Amino acid sequence: MCKTHVLSVPAAKAPFEKTTIERRQLRPDDLSIDIKFSGICHSDIHSAHGDWAGGIFPMVPGHEITGVVTAVGEKVTKFAVGDRVGVGCYVDSCGECEYCLRGEEQHCSKGFVATYNSLDYDGNPTYGGYSQNIVVTERFVVHIPDGMELDAASPLLCAGITTYSPLKRWNAGPGKKVAILGMGGLGHVAIQFAHAMGAEVTVLSRAKDKENEALSFGADYYFSTLDPETFKMLAGRFDLILNTVSANIDVDSYLSLLRVDGTLVNVGAPAEPSQYNVFSLIMSRRSIAGSLVGGLAETQEMLDFAAAHGILPQIEIIRAEQIDEAYERILRSDVRYRFVIDISTL
Ligand code: NAP
Ligand code: ZN
Repeated sequence: MCKTHVLSVPAAKAPFEKTTIERRQLRPDDLSIDIKFSGICHSDIHSAHGDWAGGIFPMVPGHEITGVVTAVGEKVTKFAVGDRVGVGCYVDSCGECEYCLRGEEQHCSKGFVATYNSLDYDGNPTYGGYSQNIVVTERFVVHIPDGMELDAASPLLCAGITTYSPLKRWNAGPGKKVAILGMGGLGHVAIQFAHAMGAEVTVLSRAKDKENEALSFGADYYFSTLDPETFKMLAGRFDLILNTVSANIDVDSYLSLLRVDGTLVNVGAPAEPSQYNVFSLIMSRRSIAGSLVGGLAETQEMLDFAAAHGILPQIEIIRAEQIDEAYERILRSDVRYRFVIDISTL
C-alpha cells in the first residue's frame, strides 16, 4: 500500500479537503503513475454534488489524468518507467464480454469500474485523479503522443474521447452539417474534432462573446441560442447535433433544426429527465441518441488523431486550493474552456 495526497469531498456539496488515501500494492499487470495534471470535467461536479444517484463519499474526483509511470508490475508489457501516460473514465472491465472484446469497454456487461465514485471488483471504492499518484492495470492506460503537453492533453481523456467517439460513429465528415450545442469543456474540443473530420461546423451557444474563439477552433458558423431568430433561420439544417449541455434543453426546438434522418446525440448528462414530442421525430424520421465516453483503443486513436491534427484543449491551470472556486466558475460557465489542476501544488 502507498499513501498519496488527494483533494477529497467528505459529503455531497461539501468543500474540498486536502487529505490522504492508500493506493493498492502493485499487481503484476499494474502501473504506478505519478499524476502531473488532472482536468476538471462537469461530471466531477455532478458527482461531487450528488446530482446523480449513488455518490460514494468521501470522494476523490478526476478522470482526465496525465502523468508519468514510476513503477511497473512484472507482467506489464506495453509501458516502462518514465513513459508519459493518460487515464480516463474507467479503470477495469471484465475483458471477456462481447462489448469488451470489441473494444467498447464502457459498455462492459459486468459494468465497468469507474475511475472514481465506483466500487472495484473486490468491492473497494475507487479514487480518481485529484491525487498525486494512482495505480491502474495497464490495459486501462494510454500513451500520450510525443510532443503533446501533459497539461493540455489531460482534458482529452474525457472531453476528447466523449466527443470524438460520437462524431466518428455518426459520420461527421465532408458534406455533413454538424452543430455543436454548448461551448464548454466538451464543446470546444468537439468543434476541433468535427472540423478536422471535414464537416461543416456550426456552434450553438448562449454566450455572446465566444464567437471569435469558436471560429478559431474551426467553426464555420456561430449562432446564439438566446435569439429566437436562430431557430427560424436554421430549421431543418443539420445532419447531426451533438448536445454537450450540462442542463436540460428544449429538445423539440433542437430537433426542429435537424433535416430528414438527422440525429440529436446527447452527451451532456443533466440529472433531470427530459421530454419531447414524438411528432418532432416522426415528421422527418429523426433520431435521438446518447453516447458514453469511448473504448480504450478508440481513446488511443483519438489522442493520435488529435496529435496529427494539432487539436488541443484550451486550458486554465489552477492550484489545488483553487478547486472550490473553479467549481463555482464552471457552474457559471465562466471557464475558457477547461480547468486543469497542477497536481504539484497538492
Ligand atoms: P461545461 O464545461 O460546464 O460546459 C457545458 C456547457 O453547457 C456550458 O459551457 C454552456 O455552454 C452550456 N450550458 C450550461 N448550462 C446551461 C443551461 N442552463 N442552459 C443552456 N446551456 C447551458 O461542461 P462539460 O465538462 O463540457 O460537460 C458537459 C456535460 O457533459 C455534463 O453534463 C457532463 O456530465 C457531461 N459528460 C458526459 C459524458 C458522457 O460520456 N456522455 C462525458 C463527459 C461529460 P454555452 O455557454 O456555450 O451556452
Ligand atoms: Zn468527464
